[in-house]
Amino acid sequence: MSGSRGSIGNRGRRTSVCSFCGKSHRDAGPMVEGASDVYICSSCIELCHNLIREEQRRAGRGRATFKTIPKPREIFDFLNQYVIGQGLAKRALAVAVHNHYKRLAHVDSMDESDVEIEKSNILLIGPTGCGKTLLARTLARFLNVPFAIGDATTLTEAGYVGEDVENILLRLLQNADYDLEAAQRGIVYIDEIDKIGKTWNNISITRDVSGEGVQQALLKMLEGTISNIPPQGGRKHPEQQYIQLDTTNILFICGGTYVGLDKIISKRLGRKKIGFTTEPAEKDTVRDMAHVLEQVTPDDLIEFGMIPEFVGRLPIICPLAPLDRQALIEIMTEPKNAIVRQYQKLFELENAKLEFTPEALNEIATRALARDTGARALRSVTEEFMLDCMFELPELRAGTTYTVTPEVVCGQSDLLAPGRLRKESA
Ligand code: ADP
Repeated sequence: MSGSRGSIGNRGRRTSVCSFCGKSHRDAGPMVEGASDVYICSSCIELCHNLIREEQRRAGRGRATFKTIPKPREIFDFLNQYVIGQGLAKRALAVAVHNHYKRLAHVDSMDESDVEIEKSNILLIGPTGCGKTLLARTLARFLNVPFAIGDATTLTEAGYVGEDVENILLRLLQNADYDLEAAQRGIVYIDEIDKIGKTWNNISITRDVSGEGVQQALLKMLEGTISNIPPQGGRKHPEQQYIQLDTTNILFICGGTYVGLDKIISKRLGRKKIGFTTEPAEKDTVRDMAHVLEQVTPDDLIEFGMIPEFVGRLPIICPLAPLDRQALIEIMTEPKNAIVRQYQKLFELENAKLEFTPEALNEIATRALARDTGARALRSVTEEFMLDCMFELPELRAGTTYTVTPEVVCGQSDLLAPGRLRKESA
């Protein structure tokens, strides 16, 4: 395999070394051999490929400009197609994104004396499974910009075991297909941002104990900095080549559950629940919690354990309400890709029809509420009773209508009975 020019080789010469990164074929695997004893390993090929592609794009396209800036109402209406409820957060996001794009257009045409519009990163606060990631993801889809999701809990301060903050930006760059210009105008969603608060007690020897180091690193990124991104991910090391990415125009959306924040707000508001002899109704607790969260101020977040500078970089705070029963039922049926519609489509592909009774939807919502993971539980509850049906469905007679009732949800009745009976009688 070795010897000839342009061939792949690692056997002919015992000590072939990549002429670009210096790794031997033992570490780097098979290499492509060029003239005069030059070798290149697969990761260097990939890196060169990306660099050249990026350069070609830059030369070909120049700066992307925004001809039309979507109006807040258009953004709001689009979000409405996929996200149920959360009106407050949708409005705040719509305005923030609209202003962000205005700012980008303004930056392109700005002179020295002009007013500078500041970046408005967003903080979404709400219980798990209430639509934080969904909002960010839907937004990115509407704007047609690269989007990446990162998780703050995996981040650690440089030098500790874990991920560098820059890896989130690498993901953005990868999702932008290494188009640096596009990535620099993308949206990054950072989940579980509350878990890097000072008071978070997740003390482990492999991360900086307080999480404050990560907050400092994130701070720079949120504010706008030239980040050095290791193109192959992982930890940075001195000999590595970096891609430089400017985060000034990236919109950061951070999300967190902030468990206990409602208590901090209630305390500040001087509201104490005393004298309850019975448990408050399910609806009241949800409404009460939503009402309390709506009144969140930056000071509450600081008391929760976020460093003040960090809170300052997230000027737009959107509280999301916990989802109540009605919202869960709507989530199952209304959005474009609602779970009921998805199952109906799957049945349709088998030439069968699937229906859910309102009582069945109510039963699924009850079970999901009990799990306390918001709308996330809907899929798992539904999958539990649908799994066996999906396994058997292709073997049953086509053209049958199946109806999901509360008994089917509870496992007391067989959804596929009509298809089976007709098959037996056929
Ligand atoms: P989190 O708030 O924890 O980020 P997600 O946005 O990831 O929660 O929600 C998990 C799933 O639950 C979503 O993929 C979506 O299917 C569903 N979901 C959650 N909230 C909503 C909502 N408000 N409207 C429609 N679907 C929702």
